[in-house]
Amino acid sequence: MNILFAVSEAFPLAKTGGLGDVGGSLPAALKEQNIDVRVIMPRYSSIPVYLQEQIEYVATFKVELSWRKIQCNLCRLHYNDVYYYLIENENFFNREKLYDYWDDAERFAFFSKAVLESLTKLGDFQPDIIHCNDWHTALIPLIMKENYGNNPFYFDIKTLFTIHNLKHQGVFPAEVFEDVLGLGGHVSAWEKLEFHGGINYMKAALLSADYITTVSQTYADEIIHPYFGEQLDGVLRARIDNLCGILNGLDTQKYNPQDDPNLVVNYRSSLCKKEENKKHLQELLSLPVRTDLPIIAMISRLVDQKGLDLVAHVLEEILSMDLQLVVLGTGDKKYEEMFEHFAAKYPHKVAIQLVFNEALAHKIYAGSDILLMPSQFEPCGLAQMIAMRYGAIPIVRETGGLKDSVDPYNEYTGEGNGFTFANYNAHELLFTIQRAVRFFYDDKVAWKGLAENARKSDFSWAKSAKKYGELYQSLTQAGEY
Ligand code: ADP
Repeated sequence: MNILFAVSEAFPLAKTGGLGDVGGSLPAALKEQNIDVRVIMPRYSSIPVYLQEQIEYVATFKVELSWRKIQCNLCRLHYNDVYYYLIENENFFNREKLYDYWDDAERFAFFSKAVLESLTKLGDFQPDIIHCNDWHTALIPLIMKENYGNNPFYFDIKTLFTIHNLKHQGVFPAEVFEDVLGLGGHVSAWEKLEFHGGINYMKAALLSADYITTVSQTYADEIIHPYFGEQLDGVLRARIDNLCGILNGLDTQKYNPQDDPNLVVNYRSSLCKKEENKKHLQELLSLPVRTDLPIIAMISRLVDQKGLDLVAHVLEEILSMDLQLVVLGTGDKKYEEMFEHFAAKYPHKVAIQLVFNEALAHKIYAGSDILLMPSQFEPCGLAQMIAMRYGAIPIVRETGGLKDSVDPYNEYTGEGNGFTFANYNAHELLFTIQRAVRFFYDDKVAWKGLAENARKSDFSWAKSAKKYGELYQSLTQAGEY
């Protein structure tokens, strides 16, 4: 079975968040299920130099964006036993960042169309399924039906669309339909794309793909309701028979405290060795070196989704406890300024790094005791899983993948791998932090047990990769999943 995995980021080529982790680790896990998976993504100029040097040229062709025919190079990289096909166009992908440009509608329409054009140029590889991920690739199922419907090469290719975050849909003005996509006159395409007078790439995928998955079962159950549905809950309800959730896994080699090169001391379960990382982190961030108090960490995009308004509401109370807070993240100005304010007010308690820094993230997972993730919604979430691998206890809200990966601690049975709260309420968050901090100070045996439960939780890809394998199989056999 041949799968072409279309995605906008894959670590270590490019990563801005969890999607990059998945793009970098799921294909490798699928290969272990004997599936021939190849990744296709843009060739960003930010791909690290040591990888750029290994990229080889494959083909050149034209991609049509309405009346324009734009030149595109197809390149290839073989890394970690996975083939990456790279769509190259200087104008679109030679930029400082991956996203958030005025012409994103055009950039990712170009990418999606280039993916379809490249299918006949992949040499000996002919995909049975194109596995598309998030809005950047959401045009692929629609355009394949609209523009390649009469081409026998494409007849049997199935499409799977995975929602990593329903919040980001690729919504653009109606003019894009004709001026960029060149779909003027395609009535059925307009019906699938139309969204409050404009167009919505993700909506088109939800209505065109053969099957839809999202990244946890709880999120799959949530997004069919208006609160989580981001105005597409009706569309999702219409496709409920072709929708399921498959929990993301982790690259357990990359996130392994036993041989993580970013740590000062590697460890497995030793709390003493973990403490060495804690001291190092405190020194690094100019916090008082004290191993007796808990470090609470947030490693996150600083956006509403991550529950930061709850944190803002009770941050004074949180900081009145004897603890340190470490924040690594970038995002909305209002949250960056909030943390800057508290770091200035409590320099001995709060350390912030408003940057994206992979190595520092690893040091923080290893050096902290608690990871805070009170998300408003969370399709899967990887930070809580990574934290647990490093023996940091997650405090999460019970939503999406957080609910599916964190079992609330039960002090009577000793079961559970973290602390959870149900409602989107700042005081529930505060009480849960207070409870966790109490265990940290007053019950070292319980804390050790919790850390052990967290460490032993299985977040490898094996189970989920098997589920994807079964789904691919049923799709190619056109059966029911
Ligand atoms: P999301 O995909 O919504 O951003 P996830 O929890 O699924 O959230 O994944 C976030 C990933 O990005 C994790 O690997 C986390 O460690 C990493 N990350 C988030 N912010 C930063 C940052 N500022 N620096 C380094 N890594 C970060």
